[in-house]
Amino acid sequence: MKVEPSGVVMIDICSIQTDKCVAKKPAPVTAVWTSPGRTQMNVCRPCLEEKIRAGEWEIQGARVEQRVDVAVYSKEQQLQLVVEVKKHPTSVVPKNWATKIRKNILVHSGIPNSPYFLLADVPNFIYLWKNREPMDYEKAPDYVISAKEILEKYLNQISSTDKVSEYYYLELVMASWLKELVKSKISPQENPALKWIFDSGLYEAIKSGSVVMESTVL
Ligand SMILES: [Zn+2]
Repeated sequence: MKVEPSGVVMIDICSIQTDKCVAKKPAPVTAVWTSPGRTQMNVCRPCLEEKIRAGEWEIQGARVEQRVDVAVYSKEQQLQLVVEVKKHPTSVVPKNWATKIRKNILVHSGIPNSPYFLLADVPNFIYLWKNREPMDYEKAPDYVISAKEILEKYLNQISSTDKVSEYYYLELVMASWLKELVKSKISPQENPALKWIFDSGLYEAIKSGSVVMESTVL
């Protein structure tokens, strides 16, 4: 479905209310018109992005800036890793689930290609792809790693209060872990559970780099 953002921001409840919604209670939302029919819907920014990523909505005209959950840049400030946090509703994760999510995000979102893509289904699994040109959207993850052991410390350290959404909390957990990793406070060589970060080349790519939450990428 095609939608047209009006540019009008108001305080209202979001009409969409995805898992990432920030306007389940009155908060700033943007009015968009859906076509055909020009029906008005009021939608918060994360929900608008989710609808576009899922391929359900298509923006007419102007391109929307893309935000990623966490972006990691190299020392030279080149985008190296895009991290998306998604929760699988049950602990039994179907085969190909991660592959489908990545494909949807890359095909529909307009996020630029980065050398690495990481999908975090915390606290279950971390999926890592090393992206190659030409981009293979159907590619299964290069690494599937149990997230619990790696992230336990951060999950315990950061408190999840009801002030922040669950997704924001999980983004914080991922960003905290990555921040320590780029500062080389955790050495993959000395940590067998992190061997994949070293083997994939990710460690070298992001070492001494920077970690940005809710980063806008072009
Ligand atoms: Zn929303």
